[in-house]
Amino acid sequence: AKAQVVVIGGGYGGATAAKYVRMLSENRIGVVVIEPNETFVSCPLSNLVVGGSRQIAELSRPYTGLERNHGVRVVRDLAQAVDTQRKVVTLAGGASIGYDMLVVSPGVDLQFDAIEGLRAANASGQVLQAWKAGPETVALRRQLEAMPDGGTYAITIPEQPYRCPPGPYERACQVAWYFRQAKPRSKVLVLDANPDVTSKGALFKRVWAEQYRGMVEYRPQHKVMAVDARAGLVRFEVPDDVKADVLNVLPPMRAGTIAQQAGLNNLANNRWCGVDFQTFESTAAKDVYVLGDAIQVAPLMPKSGHMANNHAKVAAAAIVARLSGWEVNPRPMLTNTCYSYVDNANVIHVASVHEYVAAEKTFKTVAGSGGLSAVPNAAEGAYAWSWAQNIWADMLG
Ligand code: FAD
Repeated sequence: AKAQVVVIGGGYGGATAAKYVRMLSENRIGVVVIEPNETFVSCPLSNLVVGGSRQIAELSRPYTGLERNHGVRVVRDLAQAVDTQRKVVTLAGGASIGYDMLVVSPGVDLQFDAIEGLRAANASGQVLQAWKAGPETVALRRQLEAMPDGGTYAITIPEQPYRCPPGPYERACQVAWYFRQAKPRSKVLVLDANPDVTSKGALFKRVWAEQYRGMVEYRPQHKVMAVDARAGLVRFEVPDDVKADVLNVLPPMRAGTIAQQAGLNNLANNRWCGVDFQTFESTAAKDVYVLGDAIQVAPLMPKSGHMANNHAKVAAAAIVARLSGWEVNPRPMLTNTCYSYVDNANVIHVASVHEYVAAEKTFKTVAGSGGLSAVPNAAEGAYAWSWAQNIWADMLG
């Protein structure tokens, strides 16, 4: 019978892996993607929806390209259980699907219970995260539109590692950009559990000091302990309670629930999944590959969509080689670029190159590689928009 690869999650890691297993095997291997969402909605660029310069439809793409152009079967359901011994995935709808090789790329699980009061405040729609692009992104935009001039928007950032290191700071810029035009007496408070801005720090701080002078305030070492949605209040480890009209609380994160259910979260106090960096095969279960935000990353590797796309290509090549009986000894090389919009048009980037070092079984950044913008600029605004169009075409087209 034809070999079958099952992919859990049709995001940056999963969709790319599905397409590349089909392409690299010249369609010899069957691929099934399990994904509950009807369409793909990108987290990259979603801060522009919060800022109001783009609509969520511009960041959404159908799965029909995977289906029609590559013969991938997309099942609209949630994977509920994985039996890594019998090699079967059970879906919420009741069906079960057997696999020869399994790819798990479920993204992150937001740990609402780590912050007192947050689960209820989020369920009622009062305190949003909008860290999974979709309805909450649009709802956060509505909260900002409804906020009176002179109000305060506060975003809280969990300790590293979390999904998209520069993302919260980009969001602060987007909200400030909106306030400058529509609500100039308003404030943006950035409350960070980390000791300093974790990505592109000097650049973001300069933008806040110059472009958004007097509007954005940054407070490091503010780890959230509790929220009181009714009072619009957030409490920290340090006594510095903050009241805000729009509270955007990002809780700590861990590997997506299904990765935990499958027992793949074997590192960092069971928060993240260990992988063999030569192939991205799980170190907890054979014939299972884990990609993207759910993995314990190598040093200096961000949890980004660009990285997840790269992980997926390494895993797809390893899977096709194994199912084809090819002897290979890969030495993967990965790249990353994270763009951040500081307003509707100007962008800053950070880039890096990561090389697999066999002697140490990990990735290391290549000396002299990578780069950082000198200043925000519109040329990179065009590159950032093209980056998104290209990566969506690469994973879904
Ligand atoms: P996702 O892309 O989240 O995909 C996971 C998929 O799995 C989802 O579709 C989900 O529905 C599905 N799923 C989950 N559980 C199950 C289950 N049990 N069964 C079936 N399906 C399931 N990265 C960049 O590279 N550049 C950027 O500019 C950038 N900007 C960002 C801005 C923001 C505001 C945010 C929040 C993130 C940003 N990122 C950026 C990070 C990027 O979104 C993530 O790193 C990337 O999505 C990780 O890919 P993934 O495959 O691990 O997870």
